[in-house]
Amino acid sequence: MLIQFTNRGIYCPQADVYIDPWKPVSKAIITHAHSDHARIGNSSYLSHTDSESILRYRLGEISLQTLPYNETVVMNGVRISLHPAGHVIGSAQVRLEYQGEVWVISGDYKVKKDGLTIPFEPLKCQHFVTESTFGLPIYNFPESDELKIRLNDWVKENAERGLNSVIIGYALGKAQRILNALETDLPILLHSTIYNTNAALGFDNSRYIKFTQEFKKEQLNPGVVVATGTAVGSPWLKRFEPYRLAFCSGWMQLRGARRRRNADKGFVMSDHADWKGLNEAVEATGAENVYVTHGYKSVFAAWLRERYKINAVEVETLFEGEGVENESPEPEAPQQ
Ligand SMILES: [Zn+2]
Ligand SMILES: [Zn+2]
Repeated sequence: MLIQFTNRGIYCPQADVYIDPWKPVSKAIITHAHSDHARIGNSSYLSHTDSESILRYRLGEISLQTLPYNETVVMNGVRISLHPAGHVIGSAQVRLEYQGEVWVISGDYKVKKDGLTIPFEPLKCQHFVTESTFGLPIYNFPESDELKIRLNDWVKENAERGLNSVIIGYALGKAQRILNALETDLPILLHSTIYNTNAALGFDNSRYIKFTQEFKKEQLNPGVVVATGTAVGSPWLKRFEPYRLAFCSGWMQLRGARRRRNADKGFVMSDHADWKGLNEAVEATGAENVYVTHGYKSVFAAWLRERYKINAVEVETLFEGEGVENESPEPEAPQQ
């Protein structure tokens, strides 16, 4: 087998390289910069070109080689290339080919277009490793145009009542999508983690206010605040009162998830594939062997065996699903 699932991570012995390892290794290919996929301590890294600055921002001094999409590197005879995963900026599926055996490790992905990330590219392979974060039929996400309307209506409604709109989403991916969707003349203030992540991504910050200790309430009055999950329930949020609080996450499809977080509003916005997207992605690969990782592994694997008669198995990894409160640890803690 070209790929093995080991206790350090997904491993290709022939090329002696790991994909998104969770323990330090000598050579790591990183699908994207979220903290459950890109960890510190590896001797060398390979990632997509667009992940370079965000990886350096998050991981510090690393030895990093980058590759554009669809270009091949050869490691001990194994042809390796990166392809758009549509998850967040710079996210890649990893394709490995050796003596006619083709594997695709998709990392995290979504099939729906978000207007920001290069769309997911379906790839033919015999072995496909897929996530299953939202691998239940109840997960059916709206298109980004629809989301945009709902988000802007909510902000407008709050402003008319003199309320600030506080929108929660993680710093890499979600925050940029929220900002991209906002169509308002109101002032928009960013949590410093988001501001700094934007800067690392080359996302234009010129229109936004960066939160600092000098912040004065009158700067909004009313306005929009975009913050990460770490801000929720913290004294930091109090200074934006009166406000309404919204979460942007695939989990917002569940009423219980909104209630538990005391959210006034939940926007179903995800960087992962919904049920339909997962099915589409698996079908498009034509793979006879599918390895299901983080999420509803057993349900989705059983479904794939039954529905498509393919050899689908669950694989244990340390990847996490989409967190709203278990936000990626950032080098900078929120300022209180
Ligand atoms: Zn991710
Ligand atoms: Zn993940």
